[in-house]
Amino acid sequence: MSVWINEEECTGCEMCIDSCPYPGAIVMEDDVAKITEKCTSCGACEEECPTGAITVEKVEDTKAVNLEDYEGIWAYIEQRGGKVNPTSYEILGEARRLADQLGTHVGAVVIGSEVSHLTDEIISYGADKVYKVEDSVFENYNTDPYTKAMVELIQEYKPEILLFGATFDGRDFASRIAVRIDTGLTADCTELSIDPETRNLEQTRPAFGGNIMATILCPTRRPQMATVRPKVMDAIEPDSSREGEVIEFNSSASESDLRTKILDIVEYAVETEKLEDADIIVSGGRGLGNPDGFETIKDLAQTIGGAMGASRATVDAGWIPHHHQVGQTGKTVKPKLYIACGISGAIQHLAGMQTSDTIVAINKDPEAPIFEVADYGIVGDLYEVIPILKAELQKALGKEAG
Ligand code: FAD
Repeated sequence: MSVWINEEECTGCEMCIDSCPYPGAIVMEDDVAKITEKCTSCGACEEECPTGAITVEKVEDTKAVNLEDYEGIWAYIEQRGGKVNPTSYEILGEARRLADQLGTHVGAVVIGSEVSHLTDEIISYGADKVYKVEDSVFENYNTDPYTKAMVELIQEYKPEILLFGATFDGRDFASRIAVRIDTGLTADCTELSIDPETRNLEQTRPAFGGNIMATILCPTRRPQMATVRPKVMDAIEPDSSREGEVIEFNSSASESDLRTKILDIVEYAVETEKLEDADIIVSGGRGLGNPDGFETIKDLAQTIGGAMGASRATVDAGWIPHHHQVGQTGKTVKPKLYIACGISGAIQHLAGMQTSDTIVAINKDPEAPIFEVADYGIVGDLYEVIPILKAELQKALGKEAG
């Protein structure tokens, strides 16, 4: 325990309890504050205590690095089969904005078996330097050799910030690297900013089930690492006249680092457009009543050329696979049109879709929270509303009714 209460000084005003983000971490006993095992030593109470009765013992970081040795903001460019994941250009755009504020350069790391053709494009999206690691061992993303290569790059070039897309591969990769190099990692950020004085990266992400936004710092270790949710940052407009340097890096990673082998890659069949790329999304929730309800959702989505989304309640019930889930623990989407059918509008669902350009909600409960974010609300049974909506949309699109 590194938080101490001076019982003589404590007046029992309970301001420390009000300031504490962790319920039950401070309790009152005989009008004196007591720290429990739920305390995380965050220090929020120390600043609030009007009598100075609280002392938070600062623990020295024995693995702190010399911050001045580190420079530049890097983005990991995720590619598969020689094609860049669009999320990488979003984080590269963010790296560009942050680097311009700090007056430093932007580095982009691309690893693969054939990636040379990508370097010009990466520079056009904002990189000053591209670190290219090319070898047959990197043909498919594989945690062990990729980690070895990135750790070697970090040790040689020492970036002060390193960003990844919060994709399946990005989440796997970033966490392994952070452990190897003894630094912090904030997962799933929705906002990044810089304190220009300390050069600390302010990494903001939803916490406590999306009820608060936490801003996390990594003040004593480098690089500062974060994964960033797809679709929350904007790529910059590519400029093919931009110039940059390509640095070829030879990693010591080899076949002997492959502890798992990819035998086959099977693409799942998608009957509607991919969720992340769709301009139109029709999503279904528990209000569908049963898994067959998704046939109605799919039918409407296909009619208007959209993708099919879902709430977590329906995914948890096994009605639809997880890759359709929208929300805090699913995908973040930003289509031009989002139609929510039988979805209540829990905060965790809203976290993944509330920045959509236009939101239409269909719900039989006029008090459903989804109506608070909806541009257009239709109160009614979705099984009555959707056929009418579909027929009207078909007319508007000049399609045959079916
Ligand atoms: P419900 O809340 O049960 O709502 C069903 C709605 O359908 C109701 O509003 C009802 O009025 C309406 N309805 C019923 N019948 C009809 C009908 N015939 N016609 C029209 N309307 C009808 N949820 C997500 O969606 N995505 C996430 O990523 C996510 N992450 C989470 C992470 C955490 C840590 C936690 C704790 C929760 C998370 N959740 C997430 C779950 C979330 O809190 C809700 O439980 C979930 O979104 C509810 O799904 P729903 O709206 O489909 O169901």
